[in-house]
Amino acid sequence: MIYDVIIIGGGLSGLISAIELSRAGLSVLLIEKKDYPQHKVCGEYVSNEVFEYLKSLGFDPFIFGAKNINRFELSAVSGIKLSTELPLGGFGISRFALDEALYHIAISQSVNFQLNDSAEHIEKVGNSDLFRIFTQKDKVFNAKLIIGAQGKRSVIDKNLKRSFFEKRSPFIAVKCHYKGDFPEDLVALHNFKGGYCGLSMVETGHINVCYLSSESNLKKYKDIRKMELELLSQNPHLQTVFHNWEPVFKAPLSISQIYFHEKNLTDQHVLMVGDAAGLIYPLCGNGMAMAIHGAKLLSEQVLRYFKTEIDRITLEKNYTKIWKSHFSNRIKAGGFLQNFFGTPFVSGTAVRSLKIFPFMAKSVIKFTHGKKI
Ligand SMILES: Cc1cc2nc3c(=O)[nH]c(=O)nc-3n(C[C@H](O)[C@H](O)[C@H](O)COP(=O)(O)OP(=O)(O)OC[C@H]3O[C@@H](n4cnc5c(N)ncnc54)[C@H](O)[C@@H]3O)c2cc1C
Repeated sequence: MIYDVIIIGGGLSGLISAIELSRAGLSVLLIEKKDYPQHKVCGEYVSNEVFEYLKSLGFDPFIFGAKNINRFELSAVSGIKLSTELPLGGFGISRFALDEALYHIAISQSVNFQLNDSAEHIEKVGNSDLFRIFTQKDKVFNAKLIIGAQGKRSVIDKNLKRSFFEKRSPFIAVKCHYKGDFPEDLVALHNFKGGYCGLSMVETGHINVCYLSSESNLKKYKDIRKMELELLSQNPHLQTVFHNWEPVFKAPLSISQIYFHEKNLTDQHVLMVGDAAGLIYPLCGNGMAMAIHGAKLLSEQVLRYFKTEIDRITLEKNYTKIWKSHFSNRIKAGGFLQNFFGTPFVSGTAVRSLKIFPFMAKSVIKFTHGKKI
């Protein structure tokens, strides 16, 4: 069988692309290396940019118990704190619930799944326009078009010889759910030396605690728990979390080698979307909205290609141009803001300044976000 489209990776960008393309009548196979549901390292605060769009696909987060979030707190390493309203706001829902709900919508839209298997190699079939994908379980699939939605870093990036793959990243990220006392309408971002930690409630009433830290912190403390108790807890707001709250997971989830910035939008004619196309620093809290919006934009161009309105070269050019016009500036703004986080002096000065000029805080947040789609 030759599929119209094969999608590598079934996170948000892969699932949304699959739903969009399948409901428009294309035959779609999604290859996902794990199963549903599963926890993922993510802050789990979704910007309202994509709320109406998700509803139009048949997913209403509040039916699943998502929390409505409209307040933001930012603290410096010392604990000095700024509070403000969020201009657009968002909702708190776990990836465990969100990805699984979208997976069921995809099944109802006749998307085919190859789960618990990893796409390893891609090759072009002779001089034709067809692609062949080889998986870890020795399956071979053919398609007219491939979408790369494999997230931050994957074996497929290595095998496609993507240029970012060899670049070392100085960051690790850790996530765990906790039982504790925290308002459900709040997302908080607390600085510590060499990183920052986000807190927000998800549909279960548990609090997602997710942080980005320099790799050197972990090397120094050798152990995640020790680092949380001795380093992160220097911020009094985080001390409460790590000393008083009860973890829900047996052990926290962690990832490393997280490359921020843009990547190539196409590599060897594979169309990249979501984190595979470019990852914004998590302090901006809208990587998921970008992954969802990016998948919508890509699907529109892919459908034009299958209607023969555009050829493959135009598809790749159009998509690259459209993606950059929507997201490049945000990623750059996120990179600039990152400089104000994770150091006692700079984060303290930034929080004190924003306390004096609160309107600036809202402007900064708006700068890293888009409009509702
Ligand atoms: C610390 C941290 C906190 C964050 N907090 C937030 C936040 O609060 N709000 C927000 O909006 N964004 C946040 N983000 C960003 C957000 O998590 C990502 O932007 C979003 O998950 C991107 O979705 P995706 O579909 O591109 O990738 P993913 O959701 O990572 O999905 C990729 C999928 O591909 C699969 N896969 C990988 N390789 C293969 C392969 N070879 N074959 C088959 N399957 C494969 C994986 O198993 C995975 O399911 C955060 C990011 C980090 C690092």
